Amino acid sequence: MTEPAHIDFFNTNAESWYVEVILPLALPRNYTWHVPSEMVAAIQPGVRVEVVLGRNKKYAGIVKRLHQEKPAAFEPKDVLNVLDDAPIVYQQQLALWEWMAHYYLCSEGEVMQAALPTHFKLSSETILVFNEEAGEDFSNLDDEEFLVAEALSIRNQLRLTEIQQLLDASHVYPVIKRLLDKNLCFVWEELKQTYKEKRETFILLKPEYHEEDALAELMNNWSRAPKQLELLLAFLHLHKTEGEVTQPALLKKSGASAAQLKGLLEKGILIAEKRSVDRLHSVAREVNINFTLSEQQLEALNDLRNSLEQKAVCLLHGITSSGKTQVYVKMMEEAIKQGKQVLYMLPEIALTAQVIRRLQQYFGGYIVIYHSRFNPNERVELWNKVKSGEARIILGARSSLFLPFQNLGLVICDEEHDSSFKQQDPAPRYNARDAGIYLAQLFSARTILGSATPSLESYYNAQQGKYGLVELNQRYGDIALPEIMLVDTKKIQTPDKSKVIISPDLEKAITESILNNKQVILFQNRRGYSPYQVCQSCGWIPHCQQCDVSLTYHKIKHKLICHYCGTIYPTVSVCEACGNHHFTQQNFGTERIEETLQELFPKARIARMDIDAVKGKHAHDALIQLFEQQRIDILVGTQMVVKGLDFEHVALVGILDADAILGFADFRVNERGFQLMEQVSGRAGRKGDQGKVLIQVRNTGHPVLKYVQLHDYQSFVKAELESRHQFGYPPFSRMIQLRFRHKQPEVVAGAARQIADWLKPVFGAYLIGPAAPVVNRVRNQYLMELMIKLPKDLHLLQQCKDQIQLLTAHLHQQPPYKSVIVTPDIDPI
Ligand code: ADP
Ligand code: ZN
Ligand code: ZN
Repeated sequence: MTEPAHIDFFNTNAESWYVEVILPLALPRNYTWHVPSEMVAAIQPGVRVEVVLGRNKKYAGIVKRLHQEKPAAFEPKDVLNVLDDAPIVYQQQLALWEWMAHYYLCSEGEVMQAALPTHFKLSSETILVFNEEAGEDFSNLDDEEFLVAEALSIRNQLRLTEIQQLLDASHVYPVIKRLLDKNLCFVWEELKQTYKEKRETFILLKPEYHEEDALAELMNNWSRAPKQLELLLAFLHLHKTEGEVTQPALLKKSGASAAQLKGLLEKGILIAEKRSVDRLHSVAREVNINFTLSEQQLEALNDLRNSLEQKAVCLLHGITSSGKTQVYVKMMEEAIKQGKQVLYMLPEIALTAQVIRRLQQYFGGYIVIYHSRFNPNERVELWNKVKSGEARIILGARSSLFLPFQNLGLVICDEEHDSSFKQQDPAPRYNARDAGIYLAQLFSARTILGSATPSLESYYNAQQGKYGLVELNQRYGDIALPEIMLVDTKKIQTPDKSKVIISPDLEKAITESILNNKQVILFQNRRGYSPYQVCQSCGWIPHCQQCDVSLTYHKIKHKLICHYCGTIYPTVSVCEACGNHHFTQQNFGTERIEETLQELFPKARIARMDIDAVKGKHAHDALIQLFEQQRIDILVGTQMVVKGLDFEHVALVGILDADAILGFADFRVNERGFQLMEQVSGRAGRKGDQGKVLIQVRNTGHPVLKYVQLHDYQSFVKAELESRHQFGYPPFSRMIQLRFRHKQPEVVAGAARQIADWLKPVFGAYLIGPAAPVVNRVRNQYLMELMIKLPKDLHLLQQCKDQIQLLTAHLHQQPPYKSVIVTPDIDPI
């Protein structure tokens, strides 16, 4: 790149400078602005500039490129202000955005929108909210900052356009940036406001007593208040064993009173600090790896190291409870010893206190956690820690890959098969596993993909030699994988011919487990009480008025709920079709199971884990903790119980309706079925004795069940790859899905047909559809889908993507189709 410093700024003949700026909008391309000469020196890629778009909309955009190519077609406007002294993202992030926009067919602005914390995205529509906690001490503000701060403290919130009326218009963005930096206000965020972070009082030792001598002297000269000394000792013990000490934990452990603690706080020996439990502030930055790897784990570690010397990506296929985490920990240790950063990605829902605690135990203050529930200020704080390199290990869900890493050495994608790594809506519809590999390459870093049930894509890549492959085939401690038995539900009669919920075999096994003081996990893919109510005489089923789906009955709320749009309806007691009063309930969800269990096992402690029961992260963590502490005997749940949890005392797992898992109409149904059942089974017998799994199913001959029973991933993959090959599905092809959405069914169908017709001459052989999806109306919008199944040919793939963009633009020029929404999804899941 040309170096602006070589230019003589005072030479009026100097050529003009321009910037390409990314705005947080879905614009078809980036626009260009002119840089006034006095700003040239301050501009570099990654800093934000304030620009006007259209007549008077203002935005803070990110500079992608500084150049001297004057746009031929128009006279660019001037940049108004430069907002940052230093870039807020590095070149690698800009490169990631560019790749993502290109690969997933969206704009860089949309990627920027997803990537940046709200605070960095100012526009005329932005609303600022006063930060009450900051207090009203405005003494360190300049006149303009004061003006805005005062107005904010009175009105609580202001639109940016209102602030523009308060100040000289040329100053607004820099002033707001400074107020945000000073923590005096937030950028208002829709939705996120409902999250109340959990705050707790943490107790810390005053820094001067971190010196052993000082502490020894303090204790040796302790004269009065022996209770306080006991309390201090309890604190030191807890600090050593647990790392962080909360006030309730300390009081409980020491048996001391709040007044005694207050005494120590007043003496200035201990400090109390209220803060969010997710933030791991004052843990010492030290590595403490206090375990040794088993022989197999050590071998896997060595293989992994060797493999990563040859290849950028390695797949670690380790069966459930083989100790993959332990192997990652060793790799992470090496990376941070070299001064590198580590990104450790997990599915959001697996990001529990259990995992965090485990890793924190080894890496203390080197670890930071990133998830969507942080408030805007916390996100900025973390952003800056990653950017400065202070944060070394970042544990997060998929969006953590957007953080401004500066020196990334290792990316770990755990549970890599999990479909939640794929973002569905809005754009960018990226897969964080694949994007993570790309990100790592930008830093010449390594990537480890880990799973007990790798996706077929990854396993195939490993087989082809594109990725390395390391297998870990033994559970830690040599515990056998659980024994899996099928319960044929065809053979069981229920009085009202309804579906079997708990078969006699399962009931017996549960009784035995509880007698042995062991715990039980029951899995069902459906939440609610029963998926639908059916009229006994005519078969009528209540449907959502806005979506083409039947409603789910939730007994606890006594309501019918649409799982697609969330609309809640009163229950029906009269059939709308025939007037009959009698309804039967078909199938069953987690609520119904919980109720049945309470009838069967009145003395057992039963809990339910699904999104209705555990709203919010803390409820989820709390439930996991109760289960860990054996204060729950039977846990009933959806997917939530599957994800990477490690419980010691689970002897029995029940899968209540395997037909529902295997009956899905999708080419990935077998893969998903295998993964789900193998992963749920993996929760049984992780420590101690071999566990047991009961699968209730009618279709006992389904081939996937055989592989699950034998825990035979390899044979499953072999068979499944053969059938994928035969039908030309991924990993032997690339899929692109186009989704069409419009209020009128004829219009959406016409638009989908039009695009298909246009694609036909070149891509005719690869088109599937257009067709209406199973649920063809959601929120009063009709849907159509067009699938394109392309051979693995990069050139063809690119040609197809280019065509899609062109044709979509073309479609929107046809009057009837102007407002049809077309969303491309690359590698859909
Ligand atoms: P996976 O992720 O492969 O299912 P985990 O990493 O959760 O397996 O390990 C399963 C259990 O075994 C965990 O409780 C873990 O602490 C324990 N474990 C695994 N390897 C070791 C080791 N080398 N030393 C001590 N404990 C281990
Ligand atoms: Zn009826
Ligand atoms: Zn609905």
